[in-house]
Amino acid sequence: MFGQPDCTAGNGVMPMQLNVARLCLDCEEIHDAQRCPVCASETFGYLTRWVPRIEPRATPRPAARPLVVPTTVQRIVFGGGVISLLAYGWMRWSKRARNHVEVMSFRKAGELR
Ligand SMILES: [Zn+2]
Repeated sequence: MFGQPDCTAGNGVMPMQLNVARLCLDCEEIHDAQRCPVCASETFGYLTRWVPRIEPRATPRPAARPLVVPTTVQRIVFGGGVISLLAYGWMRWSKRARNHVEVMSFRKAGELR
């Protein structure tokens, strides 16, 4: 199915696929036989239990698209809402500031009398 890369190390050690690799739970030897070649134990666990396999993909994964893509109308409405909120806050602040100035000027004028 997929072209297998040449993994021969040239040192006489045969390469082993991860999905068949077993870890001997008695002597920690890694093998792919029914019995451990070192201690003849039949107690083992597959290495994929601890090392996740990476499946080769036939087709590249499509690019992730954002979950929510706002439309132009939504952008305009949201932008208009933000601008309106800022304008409302500025008007409130400016009204309070104007009232404060009027009160302070009235007090100063009252003190002069
Ligand atoms: Zn063993």
